[in-house]
Amino acid sequence: PGSTTRHHLSLAETATAHNYHPLPVVLASGEGAWVSDVEGRRYLDCLAGYSALNFGHRHPRLTAVAREQLERITLTSRAFHNDRLGPFCRDLADLAGMDTVLPMNTGAEAVETAIKVARRWGCERKGVAPDRATIIVADGNFHGRTTTIVGFSSDPLAREGFGPFAPGFRTVPYGDAAALEAAVDETTVAVLLEPIQGEAGVLIPPRGYLRRVREVCGRENVLFIADEIQSGLGRTGTTFACEFEDVTPDIYVLGKALGGGIVPVSAVVGRHDVLGVIRPGSHGSTFGGNPLAAAVGHAVVELLRGGEYQARAAELGKQLRGRLEGLIGHGAVAVRCRGLWAGIDIDPALMTGRQACQALLDRSILAKDTHGSTIRLAPPLTIEPAELDWMCEQLSTVLGGA
Ligand code: PLP
Repeated sequence: PGSTTRHHLSLAETATAHNYHPLPVVLASGEGAWVSDVEGRRYLDCLAGYSALNFGHRHPRLTAVAREQLERITLTSRAFHNDRLGPFCRDLADLAGMDTVLPMNTGAEAVETAIKVARRWGCERKGVAPDRATIIVADGNFHGRTTTIVGFSSDPLAREGFGPFAPGFRTVPYGDAAALEAAVDETTVAVLLEPIQGEAGVLIPPRGYLRRVREVCGRENVLFIADEIQSGLGRTGTTFACEFEDVTPDIYVLGKALGGGIVPVSAVVGRHDVLGVIRPGSHGSTFGGNPLAAAVGHAVVELLRGGEYQARAAELGKQLRGRLEGLIGHGAVAVRCRGLWAGIDIDPALMTGRQACQALLDRSILAKDTHGSTIRLAPPLTIEPAELDWMCEQLSTVLGGA
C-alpha cells in the first residue's frame, strides 16, 4: 500500500499544501521522453516540466556530469570562487552573444534580479530619480510567483489576497507595439516581455512586434528584458525565441532547461555596462552559481552549442504544426505552434482543457491545460517523429471522440 497511486494521492491531500491541482498520476521514474508511474504504467511526457526537460529525463550526458560533480564538490557559496562557475558563465554569455552572467536558481529569482538590475541601471545610468523607475510589462504575462511579480500579473487567481504590491509597473496589451511605445515616459527603465507568452497559452505576438519593441527601447534608452525562461534554450527551433525576428534584447532571463531537469539553475545574461550596476553586497543567493548547478548548466550550454536540438525542434515543429492544424474544426478552434511548442484551443462546448488532459492521461500522454480550454504541448526535444505522430493521433481521438 506504500506505493500505490491511491496512497500517494491521499498523502498529497493531507500532507502537501494545495498550491497545485495535479492530474491524478504519481510518477516514479523517467527516461528520455517517457515516464512511469508507481504502478508501472508508462506515459509520453508532453509537458516536459514546462520546458525544464527540453533534453528529456535523465539525459545521459547531463546525469554523467552531475554524478561526476557529486564526487567532487557541490556547494561553496559565493564567499569563495569555484572552478565550475567561470567556464559556465563564459560559455553561456557566449551562447547568448552577451558579456556576462548573474547566476540564480529559479526563474522568479532571475526575473526579480533583472528588475533590480533595470531599476538601478535607470537610476545610475539613465538618471531616473531614485524610487521613481517604472517597468512596462504585458497583459497576460507570467514571470513567476514572488510578491513583486504577481503584483503585475493580470491573473486574479495569482494576486488575490497577496497585496500590498510593489509599485512601478505599467501594463500594456501584449502584441501592441504602439500601446507599448505610448506607455514609455522619462521614468521608464525597462520593458519586460516573454517573446512568446507560455502560460497564457503559447501566444505568439504579431510578426514585427519584437522588432518594434527593440526599436522603441533603443530610441528611448530603455532596457529590453526578454524573459526566455520557458521559450529559450531550443524550444522554439532556435536558441532564443527572439531570434525569430532577429532581435537581441539587452537582457535575457533564463531558467528551466538551463538546469537540465536535474537542478534549478537560472541566470540573467547581459552586457557589462548593464549588469555592471550590481556590485558586491547589493545582490546574491546562497545557492546561485553553486558548482553542481554550474557544471550541469555548462553541460546544457554545450548541448546547445552544437545546434542539433534547435534544428530538431524546428524540424519536428513542422510535423507538429501540420498535424495540429488538421484538428481545427475537429475539436480544436485554434492552434499556435512555434518549434516543439504548441497551444491548442479546444472547442469549449466539447470539454474543458482539464477534461481533455485527463482523457490524454488515460491514453498514456501527459499534457497540461491552461486558462480553461487551452492545452499546452511541449514535449522533450528528443522525442521521436513516430512518438510525436502517436501523440497527435491520441489528441485527435480525444477531441473527436468526446
Ligand atoms: N518566467 C516564465 C516565462 C515562466 O514560464 C516561468 C515559469 O513557468 C517563470 C518565469 C518562473 O519560473 P520559476 O517557476 O522557476 O520561478
